[in-house]
Amino acid sequence: MMNEPLTTPITPPRVRIAPSPTGDPHVGTAYIALFNHAFAKRHGGRFVLRIEDTDQSRSTLESEQAILRSLRWLGLDWDEGPDVGGDYGPYRQSERTALYQEHAEQLISQGGAYRCFCTTERLSELRARQKEKKEDTRYDGHCRELDAEASRARAAAGEPCVVRLKMLAEGKTLIQDLLRGEIPYDNRQIDDQILLKSDGFPTYHLANVVDDHLMEISHVIRAEEWIPSTPKHLRLYELFGWTPPVFVHLPLLRNKDKSKISKRKNPVSLDYYERAGILPEAMLNFLGLMGYSIPDVEEKEEQFTLAELIETFDWSRFSLGGPVFDVEKLEWLNGNWIRAISPEDLLERLYAHVLSKDYVASFVAHVQPRIRRLDEFVDTAAFFFNGKLESPTELIFDKFKKRHDAKDVLDALLALTERLDRLLGWDEALLEQALRDQVEALEWKVGDLFMAARIAVTGRKASPGLFETMAALGKPMCQFRFRDACERLKPLAKEAVQERQKRAAAARLAEQTP
Ligand code: GLU
Repeated sequence: MMNEPLTTPITPPRVRIAPSPTGDPHVGTAYIALFNHAFAKRHGGRFVLRIEDTDQSRSTLESEQAILRSLRWLGLDWDEGPDVGGDYGPYRQSERTALYQEHAEQLISQGGAYRCFCTTERLSELRARQKEKKEDTRYDGHCRELDAEASRARAAAGEPCVVRLKMLAEGKTLIQDLLRGEIPYDNRQIDDQILLKSDGFPTYHLANVVDDHLMEISHVIRAEEWIPSTPKHLRLYELFGWTPPVFVHLPLLRNKDKSKISKRKNPVSLDYYERAGILPEAMLNFLGLMGYSIPDVEEKEEQFTLAELIETFDWSRFSLGGPVFDVEKLEWLNGNWIRAISPEDLLERLYAHVLSKDYVASFVAHVQPRIRRLDEFVDTAAFFFNGKLESPTELIFDKFKKRHDAKDVLDALLALTERLDRLLGWDEALLEQALRDQVEALEWKVGDLFMAARIAVTGRKASPGLFETMAALGKPMCQFRFRDACERLKPLAKEAVQERQKRAAAARLAEQTP
């Protein structure tokens, strides 16, 4: 099976980004959006924003709004989307469920897909057996050959089932990738993917392919991590008798150690960068350097605008080595951008962000009881204005020396950070609950954990109330501060572990000595 040969666009391209609204707006979404946008604009095409909210348990409207807001902050405007409409809507997959169900039915009646009635128990036993035998965990085709009539009757009688794609048992699928050439996949390795879940909602694969086709997407430009899904998508195109789009898989953004970019090693939320005073021009400029090089970039000290990127955009300027999302480089570029704008412009931006009335209003009342003169305000509220704090770790360590060593404090802060990551909202009541739950989980004194958290987010032992401070600072900044504090604590935690080992060895020796 092959998809169509690659062509340079004769007609203006239609491209899309298809974020799943399941969390903070991610830098990776902006990176993919940037190149989709640049390619579309270069060739007079259309850039579509589609919301892939098929995972009902994880998708939220808040996350969708945050993604749209961040992309707009960056100036990556879209021509069609859930907020601006367009001829191919609706642009939110949760509003298109009937379409996917119809398409799944069509595949079943053609014999390209089948209903699977296997229970979760059967599937977990199967998985356990395969794991034990060190085999790949995959569906064993148990329901593949069920009689069509009997299958329809069971579903009609209300027996829960999913719909699975019938993958080919032999041969190869060749993905044609604009940047990577031909990528072969052995069909036997590809599982019979679930297309429709038992709740009637589609999985990513079905909804993505149906929508890309119905929205007449000409080029699917997405991250490398979707390559393994592409053979399933090509099978769907083939079964439906549709021409697949051109696929372009961009290299994944990486941490400095070359692992896939993760919030454990770098802030990944666009909200954080906006809050930390990165200019949108600098962020776009930085993302535009990820795997891509615009002409004469060295002469310009790597500084370029979105308009320049669009003007010179060309796929041949991509290289596939993993681009490193290096925050220091981003800050360097941002410094250049700050120097490149006029003081008037800078003033406007300060008033729009760090010094905006809305932002200062969110904490002014908390600082009020702590000052005697107006000129003490800035110093007292410094941690509301600064992104990075001066090393708070020594303070944390000092504070807890008696009851908890640095390793304990690090573990507690890491666990708290994970818990806060999972919070869906960010207000005083939720924060108080989360911190109290963590105190209980750790069996610590309330004051100890609250103090550790206070020092991590403010760098101080005394500050306005912890929950109102955290609420005003916002989730992205608090997450950054917690992770930063943990990083700084790591060397001390290592020493603490060595100290523990030394003490244990000494105790063993003392026991052995009569
Ligand atoms: N919903 C997928 C995501 O969250 C879209 C992947 C694609 O572009 O096909 O990234």
